[in-house]
Amino acid sequence: MDAERPACAALTKSGKPCRALAVLDTPYCNMHGPHARAIQIKGGKHRANAYRLEDKMSPRLKDVVALLGEAAQQVHSGEITPAQGSSLASIATALVKVVESAEVEMRLSVLEVRQKRGSDGFSEE
Ligand SMILES: [Zn+2]
Repeated sequence: MDAERPACAALTKSGKPCRALAVLDTPYCNMHGPHARAIQIKGGKHRANAYRLEDKMSPRLKDVVALLGEAAQQVHSGEITPAQGSSLASIATALVKVVESAEVEMRLSVLEVRQKRGSDGFSEE
C-alpha cells in the first residue's frame, strides 16, 4: 500500500467511507472516480459474458461466483480485510473442487449407462 496516497473520498453503498486508495491526483478510487462509468461499462460487457457462462453453471457455482464478486468489491472498499477476502476465496476454491468432482462423477455414470445400453442392443439416442 502506498502511504502517500489518501483514501477515497466517496461513501460505499452501505454509507461507510470507501477505504480504497485514491487514484493519483484525484480524491477518488477507480470505482468512484471520473473513469468509474467507463470501468462499469467495461465491467458490464464482462458481466454479459459472465451471464452467458452462468446459464451453464450449476446453482451452487453461481452462488460462489456471486459471493466472490461481492467479496472482491468489499475488499476494494475496505469493508472486509484482504485476509478475509483470501479466506473466502480459499473456501470457494475448495467448494468448487468438490462440486466439479461430483459433476464429473455424474457425467461419467451417465456415459457408463449409455455405453452399457449401446453394447446390449446397439441402440442410439
Ligand atoms: Zn472509492
